[in-house]
Amino acid sequence: MSPRKRHGVVCAVSMAVTFWALASAARADGRATDAYLEESRARWEQVARQIWDTPELGLAETRSAAVLIDALEKEGFQVTRGVGSEPTAFVATAGTGAPVVALLAEYDALPGLSQVAGQPKRQALAEGTPGHGCAHNLLGTASVAAAIAANRERVGKKLPGTIQLLGTPAEEIGIGKTFMIRDGAFKRTDVVFAWHPDDQNRVTNRTRLAATGVNVEFFGRSAHAAASPWLGRSALDALVLFDHAIALMREHILPTARLHRAIRDGGAAPNIIPDHAAGEYWLRDASGESVNEMLGRLKKAADGAALATETRAQVTLLFSLREPVPNDALNAVLQRELDRVGAPRFDDADQRFARAMQKELGFEQVGLATQVMPFTPKNGGTASSDIGEVSAAVPLAELNLATRPLGTSAHHWAQTTCAAHPLGYKGMAVAAKVLAASTVDALTDPGLIKAARAELLVQTKGKPYLSPLPPGAKPVAPR
Ligand SMILES: [Zn+2]
Repeated sequence: MSPRKRHGVVCAVSMAVTFWALASAARADGRATDAYLEESRARWEQVARQIWDTPELGLAETRSAAVLIDALEKEGFQVTRGVGSEPTAFVATAGTGAPVVALLAEYDALPGLSQVAGQPKRQALAEGTPGHGCAHNLLGTASVAAAIAANRERVGKKLPGTIQLLGTPAEEIGIGKTFMIRDGAFKRTDVVFAWHPDDQNRVTNRTRLAATGVNVEFFGRSAHAAASPWLGRSALDALVLFDHAIALMREHILPTARLHRAIRDGGAAPNIIPDHAAGEYWLRDASGESVNEMLGRLKKAADGAALATETRAQVTLLFSLREPVPNDALNAVLQRELDRVGAPRFDDADQRFARAMQKELGFEQVGLATQVMPFTPKNGGTASSDIGEVSAAVPLAELNLATRPLGTSAHHWAQTTCAAHPLGYKGMAVAAKVLAASTVDALTDPGLIKAARAELLVQTKGKPYLSPLPPGAKPVAPR
C-alpha cells in the first residue's frame, strides 16, 4: 500500500469516527431557536405564501427577494443587494468575525407550473404562467427564518462569529450560485448549511448529478421554401440532424448519465427556410469528468451536423455545476438536529390530502413520510443543483424535508399545490428549526469548522476551487 493510499484510509477512518462522535454528542441545552420559530410560525407561513403568490423566474425574482430582504433588515441584518451581474442575488450579514456560517435561500419559480393552492388535481391558476413547482418559496423562507432565529440566539447569548444568509437566485437554470462564487460572495464563508423540499426527511448526500447546459445554434441561409429552396441552407435541418446524433449517443453513455433538451427556435414558418435554429441541451452524470467528456462529443455532433447541411454551428455554455462534495462533519450536525426535531407532524387532513393526490396521479396511496431516514453515505435523488458548485468551494451539508406526498416529484404541479398547503408549511418549519440549531452549533464549535475544512481539503485533494465559467461569462436566462 502506498503512503498516499494509507493516508486515504486513515482519513476515511478518522472521518467516520468524527461523524459518529459528533452525531452522538446530543446537546442538552434547550433550543431557543425552536421556541422562537414556533412563536413566529404564522409569520413565516405568510412570507412563504406571499412568495408563492408572485412566482418569478430565475434572474427576475425581484419581489420574492424583496420580501426576504425586508424580513432580514427588520432583524438587523446588513444586506447587500445584487452580486456581480445578478441583481436578484443578495448577501445578508449579522455579527462580526469568525466563524462565518452561511445559510442559502432560493426563491425562483418554474415556467408553466401555475396551480391552484391546496387542490389535489391539476388546475392552473393562470395557464402557462410560472409556479413554485420546486417549492423554493418554502426553501427561501425557512432559511431566512433560521438565520433570524440563530441570530437572535447569537445576540442574546453573545455568541462569536457571523451569520450569513445568501440569497441565491436562478437555481432552476443552474447559474445563480456558480456566478456568486465567481463574484466573491462566498469568499468569507467558513461553512454552509442548506435544505431542499422533497418527499422524504433525510440528510441528502452525494447523489446529486453534475450538469452542464449549452445553447446549440445553427446558422444557415434563408430562402423561399417552394420558389427557390435550392438557394437555402436550413438551420432547422442541422438541428434535427444534431438532435438525432444526440439520440443515438444515448446508447453509448454511462447508465448514470442523462441527456435532455428543449427546442428554442425551429424557424418562423414552414414556407421560409430558416437561417437560424436553436436548442438547449443539458448533460448530466454522476461526475463532472463524465459530463465534460459528453460535452466534447456533443460539440463533434454539432460540427458534424453543420458540415452535412452546409450551415454553421455554435455551442455556448449556459451553466456548469459539479456533483456535491460530501462533508460528513457537517452532515453529522444536520442529522443530529434532524433526529432531535423529528419528522414533520402531519395530521389526518394532510394525509388524506396526500392520498387523494396519489390517487389522482395513479401512485400508491401511502401518504406522507412520517419518519426521519437514518444517515447513509448515499442518500438523495438524481437531480442537480448549483449547490454542488458551492460544496466544492466551501464545506456544505444539505437536508431534505417532506413537503409533498411520497412518490411525487419536484418540477410538477403536485409540489406547487403542496407549497401553499399546511403540509408544506410543516416541512418548512422543521427545516428552519434544524438549520437554526445547526447554525448555532457551528458558531460555538471551532473544532467543527476545522474538521469540515480539513474534510473538504481531503475530498478535493487540496486543489483550489476553479470556476467552470469561461472568462467574462455573464448569467443569461435561456428563454
Ligand atoms: Zn429546487
